[in-house]
Amino acid sequence: MTARQVIGIDLGTTNSAVALWRDGQAQLIANKFGSVLTPSVVGLDDEGNLLTGQPALDRLSTHPHLTQASFKRYMGTEVTLTLGHQTFRAEELSAILLRQLKEDAQSWLGQRIEDAVITVPAYFNDVQRRAVKTAGELAGLNVRRLLNEPTAASLAFGLLENREQKYLTFDLGGGTFDVSVIDMFEGVVEVRASSGDVQLGGDDFNEAICQWMLNQQPDLKAALPAVKPALLEQAGRLKRALSQAPQASVELLWQAQTWRWTLDEEQLGRCCQPLIARLQQPVMQALHDARFSLQDLDHVLLVGGATRMPLVRQAVARLFGRFPRHDLHPDEAVALGAGVQAGMVMKDAAIEDVILTDVMPFSLGVETAKESPGGLESGFFLPLIERNTWLPVSKSKTVSTVADNQTCVLLKIYQGEGRRVKDNVYLGEMNIEVPPRRAGEVALEIRFTYTLDGLLEIECQQLDSPNRSRLVIEKVPGQMTAAQIEQSLQKLNDLKRHPRDRQENRDLLLRGSRLFERLLGEERAWIDNVMSVFEQALDSQDERRIADVRQKVCEALASFDETLL
Ligand code: ADP
Ligand code: MG
Repeated sequence: MTARQVIGIDLGTTNSAVALWRDGQAQLIANKFGSVLTPSVVGLDDEGNLLTGQPALDRLSTHPHLTQASFKRYMGTEVTLTLGHQTFRAEELSAILLRQLKEDAQSWLGQRIEDAVITVPAYFNDVQRRAVKTAGELAGLNVRRLLNEPTAASLAFGLLENREQKYLTFDLGGGTFDVSVIDMFEGVVEVRASSGDVQLGGDDFNEAICQWMLNQQPDLKAALPAVKPALLEQAGRLKRALSQAPQASVELLWQAQTWRWTLDEEQLGRCCQPLIARLQQPVMQALHDARFSLQDLDHVLLVGGATRMPLVRQAVARLFGRFPRHDLHPDEAVALGAGVQAGMVMKDAAIEDVILTDVMPFSLGVETAKESPGGLESGFFLPLIERNTWLPVSKSKTVSTVADNQTCVLLKIYQGEGRRVKDNVYLGEMNIEVPPRRAGEVALEIRFTYTLDGLLEIECQQLDSPNRSRLVIEKVPGQMTAAQIEQSLQKLNDLKRHPRDRQENRDLLLRGSRLFERLLGEERAWIDNVMSVFEQALDSQDERRIADVRQKVCEALASFDETLL
């Protein structure tokens, strides 16, 4: 393969996964534990070493102050989250996870990776999308493309059948619900509309089951809030077990007492009814925006781990009057689609004829003033690019000065649907300098462009002058500045990592196991021995001993490498 390897990453709220395009198809990459799903959890162990994925999740209920999950919810905000005494932004925690995914993929492939496609929820606004790009940058990844999650899922499904069809992706993950309506024809995968609920996912079902558990065992309420994390863990187990069997039981050992629960489908249905009821509205909204009726749809694709629940599948079947498709694992489809997109970025010949168009689900506009009986009243939203317009899209608007000798025009940019700007997301503002003339004499053409990534670019031209300038939005709340990114890079590099997880040691372990695979007999046993000594040194976490042994292992491997690699 000559093109630089690109990987596709589903950076999920609950689970993340990596895929790439290989031998004409998207393929998932297993992490260092052999699993294709990596829990999106980051933590510290008792020695202060970083933990990522499953080992971090294992400590979520026992060491909540040293562990963080679901941080994707805070992408693009100033919210800080703590691990012990240290504070992090969501971009930084995501970067720690992305770095792990990247390194696991490198070990799996035996090759360096610098380029990635990362998926984002379709409802992410400009600030949140930029935050994902920043997280990738902090993880040492060149983010070649951001891809909407439902679009990724459609790509994974869409490539299986290349005929004209209309369908809906129904993605119920751990924390969010995301619906998209897609139109596919002649290799074009077109997202016609997206909608969703950012406060609805598998976690909420765990919470509902947890309440039921407390109602069943009211004495346990006295142990709140301490018992909550352990209860939620058991609630999750009950939920998953009920996807396989009509009845399930769990036990919890708490303060020398064993508490038991048995839940069946029917009871589960009752306690989750309010959540199931909330699935309908976003579906109707997306269909309405796409101007499709339920009958127009050829398929309904189930995406997201929570759609494994029979209760959810039944609700979907009732809503659509047909059974949904689930011929891909729902929690793997987004990553597989990102893998397809990674192949496109690498310009793999097998998928060159697939074109992808996408939409941005929020309208974009500027603040404007209106004439009112009391004079000019500001605070109104003037939409420039309507929601669900195909990407890339470019629209321009001409504005004129309103006062004599005005020297600047202030443009405030918002994303959303509200009539007044206070109901929308503020993206930032920009000050455009203009020559002082009489009111209305200076006209500016402002061009707003949404790129394929769903990111906003703004260009401005003064109509009577040849100068065209590209504008950067200033004062964006929630966005990291270049200086903050620089500081973060340093901070992330300084975090303590278990010697086994550090790149130089992982590379050496990888070389050792490659040699082991190639050699035979005594030489193979010798390598096995050398690597065992190295592994023991790594586990001792004694840096001087590690450096010493690493040096010797390098020398030992070098004599083989020349002849074998
Ligand atoms: P995200 O996109 O938010 O990262 P996923 O698509 O991986 O999330 O879905 C995670 C959710 O799916 C969790 O709430 C998890 O409990 C739920 N889930 C996973 N497997 C099952 C199952 N077999 N039955 C019910 N829920 C499941
Ligand atoms: Mg997901």
